[in-house]
Amino acid sequence: MRTRPVVTIDGPSGAGKSVVSKRLAELAGMVRLDTGAMYRACALAARRAGVPWSDAVRLGELAKVIRLSFNGPDGQAGIFLDGEDISGAIRAPEMSMGASEVSVHLPVREAMVSKQRELGRDGGVVLEGRDTGTVVFPDAEVKFFLDAAAAVRALRRYREINSIYSQPYEQVLKEVLCRDVRDSTRKHSPLKMASGARYIDSTTMTVDEVVETMMKELPGGGR
Ligand code: C5P
Repeated sequence: MRTRPVVTIDGPSGAGKSVVSKRLAELAGMVRLDTGAMYRACALAARRAGVPWSDAVRLGELAKVIRLSFNGPDGQAGIFLDGEDISGAIRAPEMSMGASEVSVHLPVREAMVSKQRELGRDGGVVLEGRDTGTVVFPDAEVKFFLDAAAAVRALRRYREINSIYSQPYEQVLKEVLCRDVRDSTRKHSPLKMASGARYIDSTTMTVDEVVETMMKELPGGGR
């Protein structure tokens, strides 16, 4: 029995889940769990261990043994792989594709979902990802599906990564569309709207407008 709610935000890449979940968690005094970062960390760990992103069995073993944490040794926020801060490394465009590749495998998903359920067990948490309302916490108290037009999502992604990785917009759009297809057509836990989820199209909305809309759905208005 949890005393605080679980909130899930699912949707395709570039829909705004990251920034919105951060703000929502801050305002509502909850913890944010970026589940995509966990699949990215898996892809990075596999690359370093020389495990191909196509090898379901070895990836599953690796996913079970890696230690992922969202707090560093000195309590700093980020994502840590066996104690090392990998917050920057997992944002490389290659790791976006890697995460999308490793996350199709059931053994990888099972290992990650089990960690996610453990982390969110007591509630008071905002999870963002692709399957948080359908698979990780189908009994979540509040669920959202955040969407936006593909061209706008690609533009957001382009602006986000462009200061570090110079990728032309067309390339970013191509990769966003490729991930959309893989994430929503895969056999295990494809991206889809959870039953009971509130659909929000953020194409023409500001971050504040999305967060405000979400806050109204939280028990007691989130405050
Ligand atoms: O959200 P983000 O772009 O960091 O996610 C990277 C990839 O991880 C997604 O494209 C998707 O393939 C995978 N993912 C997933 N399930 C989640 C979160 C992310 O399969 N809950």
